[in-house]
Amino acid sequence: MPTTIQHLPMPVPPATHPLTSRHVAVIGAGAAGLVTARDLRREGHSVVVFERGDQVGGTWVYTPKTECDPIGLDPRRTMVHSSLYNSLRTNLPRESMGFLDYPFVAKDDPERDPRRFPGHREVLMYLQDFTREFGIDELVKFETEVVRVGLVDDLKWKWKIKSKKRGKDETTTSTTPGHVDEIFDAVVVCNGHYTQPRIAQIPGINEWPGKQMHSHNYRVPDPFRDQVVVLIGSSASAVDISRDIAGVAKEVHVAARSVADETSGKQPGYDNMWFHPMIESVHEDGTVFFQDGSFVLAGIILHCTGYKYHFPFLETNGIVTVDDNRVGPLYKQIFPPALAPWLSFVGLPWKVVPFPLFELQSKWIAGVLSNRFALPSQEKMMEDVEAFYSSLEASGMPKRYTHNLGSSQFEYNNWLAAQCGCPEIEDWRIDMYKACGKNKRARPEFYRDEWEDHHLVLQAYEDFIKYTS
Ligand code: FAD
Repeated sequence: MPTTIQHLPMPVPPATHPLTSRHVAVIGAGAAGLVTARDLRREGHSVVVFERGDQVGGTWVYTPKTECDPIGLDPRRTMVHSSLYNSLRTNLPRESMGFLDYPFVAKDDPERDPRRFPGHREVLMYLQDFTREFGIDELVKFETEVVRVGLVDDLKWKWKIKSKKRGKDETTTSTTPGHVDEIFDAVVVCNGHYTQPRIAQIPGINEWPGKQMHSHNYRVPDPFRDQVVVLIGSSASAVDISRDIAGVAKEVHVAARSVADETSGKQPGYDNMWFHPMIESVHEDGTVFFQDGSFVLAGIILHCTGYKYHFPFLETNGIVTVDDNRVGPLYKQIFPPALAPWLSFVGLPWKVVPFPLFELQSKWIAGVLSNRFALPSQEKMMEDVEAFYSSLEASGMPKRYTHNLGSSQFEYNNWLAAQCGCPEIEDWRIDMYKACGKNKRARPEFYRDEWEDHHLVLQAYEDFIKYTS
């Protein structure tokens, strides 16, 4: 469901203060943290990146490990960051996925995956290349988890970051007890939002005898062999995982809010997969009823129902809250007006092409922090946020869609580009996103290997020459 960016003000004139270098903390060394670190440093800031893992890449660091609570309700569980499954290939073509000035082109190397929609390892290798190219490793404190971020009481606009060094094996209790406090001028939060499961509320679930799992803990289809599985969801992961499982399961029943009458029922090309409307209720005898009155006897429910924004370390005295998955209030998805520009977020929008959007967000933040660009007053930013929320409400959009940009992402990117004095994003990116979406809907099994937008691929590679030659 796309949202509209309301009340786009004219580009803000350059600030009149002298350019200033700040000491900035970046939380997370995934794609967002990496590009943020690069652009902050390019702007002349001193940067420290805190990363609780032992390498860069965030989501793209695949691990076969899963959490002990398969639906992620136990707050004491040992977290596993990545939600990747073993078979995952990108759902965006590599030409549009890469950073704007560091294209994700195929490498002539037998170790690499040259496909247009490569496997997850290739994306990790691309992020490692990016890290090496821009020397970002030297800015990162690995195995260092941020446990608290808060304003320092007696120093106006300074942040104290409390971090702890983690042991190598997160499944043991070898975490070292030492906490370290450091002071920064500004903090950019880049901690990702595909780790904390959101599960469907199902009437009768406490009495239902089967197992449950969230897609966060799905890695390989084998545990589903010969099982009757009910999978909830219709996102890219739900589409992939249902097909992965159908290869071994006895039956796969996909339940989704968005299943239209004409697509429900047995799925063409499969003798063991059915689509249903949402689950109505589940029962002690193992039955799962759907909203159209049909039912199955199932052994496992797999929630492919998305994730929650989660900032367990952030203390802002209630200035920034997460309410029904709305992180706010945030000016242009980035700055909480009352704490701007000293606190910012990169990477919150979803249903987007993430890396280029992260890049534009980070350029803007870097320039605002150095005084190269000025923000509107706190009141004006708040007015803009409120107008945006009102427009969502008027169009019947639930709060939890606040960060779903969808088709308005390109307008958003261009707005950011204008703030930074960068050129608008190329038309082929918009056309490719649309062409890929259409192809995905038409042939969910084959869109990664069969496409018609060859002319757009050519245009992309023509554009890339300026970065790759
Ligand atoms: P992450 O990659 O999650 O990185 C966040 C980092 O912050 C992690 O390294 C984490 O360890 C660290 N961190 C978190 N908390 C702390 C803390 N307290 N202290 C220190 N460090 C911390 N995008 C695409 O472009 N194409 C795709 O095909 C695609 N497919 C996807 C498939 C799946 C299953 C998922 C889950 C996502 C997919 N995405 C895809 C989106 C993907 O998440 C983004 O591409 C991007 O990697 C997100 O980067 P990020 O830096 O915001 O978050």
